[in-house]
Amino acid sequence: MSEENTVKKEAAPATAAPKTADSRPARPARTEGGRPERPQRRGPGGRGGKFQRRRKFCKFCADTSLTIDHKDPVLLSQFISERNKITPSRVTSTCAKHQRQLTTAIKRARVLALLAFTPLHHK
Ligand SMILES: [Zn+2]
Repeated sequence: MSEENTVKKEAAPATAAPKTADSRPARPARTEGGRPERPQRRGPGGRGGKFQRRRKFCKFCADTSLTIDHKDPVLLSQFISERNKITPSRVTSTCAKHQRQLTTAIKRARVLALLAFTPLHHK
């Protein structure tokens, strides 16, 4: 018969990191030969002046008589790029509602062959 030895090893408590209340090591100060660096400040006025933010201006909101129609390729072509991509609203500053209507109208016009899908498309 085999003797059953059940040896229970008690886990040693995790080594607690010795806490030492040391003062921070002073970083080497370089003072010789160098002038203190100062953050460069812009002139008075700060962010104004040269660049003024243009107010966002949606063409279709401004002119309610304009309607987005997929049968109007002349109007829709103002909102596609040279490579027949739909220009993002941040470029054309069209509002979200009208940009959505524009994209569907442009896509419909493409299906109807009023607008081209790609510049490779020959008329
Ligand atoms: Zn709009």
